[in-house]
Amino acid sequence: MMTRLYHHPIFAEHLTGPGHPERPERMAAVAAALEDEAFQNLDRVLASEGSLDAVYRCHPHDHVRKIARSTPTEGMARIDGDTIVSPQSFAAALHAVGAACAAVDDVVSGAARNVFVAARPPGHHAERATAMGFCLFNQAAIAARHAQAVHGLERVAIVDWDVHHGNGTQDIVWSDPSILYVSTHQMPLYPGTGARSETGVGNVFNVPLREDDGTDEFRAAFREAVMPPLEAFRPDLVIISAGFDAHHRDPLGGLNLTEADFDWATGQLLDVASRHAGDRLVSLLEGGYDLQGLGRSVASHVKRLMIG
Ligand SMILES: [Zn+2]
Repeated sequence: MMTRLYHHPIFAEHLTGPGHPERPERMAAVAAALEDEAFQNLDRVLASEGSLDAVYRCHPHDHVRKIARSTPTEGMARIDGDTIVSPQSFAAALHAVGAACAAVDDVVSGAARNVFVAARPPGHHAERATAMGFCLFNQAAIAARHAQAVHGLERVAIVDWDVHHGNGTQDIVWSDPSILYVSTHQMPLYPGTGARSETGVGNVFNVPLREDDGTDEFRAAFREAVMPPLEAFRPDLVIISAGFDAHHRDPLGGLNLTEADFDWATGQLLDVASRHAGDRLVSLLEGGYDLQGLGRSVASHVKRLMIG
């Protein structure tokens, strides 16, 4: 079985304006990084638009209406200070949802061993009723609920190594013991949440790192605070909120990870998926704003997924 990649040109048509870090060029950087010969066996599939029913498992109808209404017919509009929408944004976000749900379908049916979804906008800051932090819909939480509702999986783990805390994912799963949320992130940093004391109903594990922390601190935190709750949870599916803005080159983050760290962490999570989840693992792109750091990190991550 192969590693599958979901992509779509519409992910580059979500426009955010000059100088915005979450920009269309990120998709070109990811595509270029995956052109290498090492990726010739990657199973590339075009994403389809997701269903609103999938979205409604995590967001109220009013949230969807608000985003649809904010989307301009030309130019750009602001949802908050840094969350921008353009005419194709709603469709792009729905395709990101579609790809995340299709990825779950694929690892459950065995069409793919694992999947990387190279989509934007990202999702982990989108709360139940609030689009923020460049995010409209929360793909990771939507994929988790899709796995449960459509495929009957019981326990889904979401591991988030983006440099920012996934306040949106935490908000959505806060009182849902069937979904484990484990996040490493820099603190203090946007959005300000993610303290160790935020634990949901015992299903939320926040593992804050300090500015300038690098390989040693990240791997120690992962071994000591990410792996134990994951092992204890015995997930039926592992979802990665794969942000690459903890890379040392990233302009928004202050951590010092290298692509080797993403390779290593990917290996750790593949092991968990192999031990508990029949190898079922879905990885969703979140942040990563230095094009070179993003490209190299994605290459290293996907290479590891392909090794399995
Ligand atoms: Zn981020």
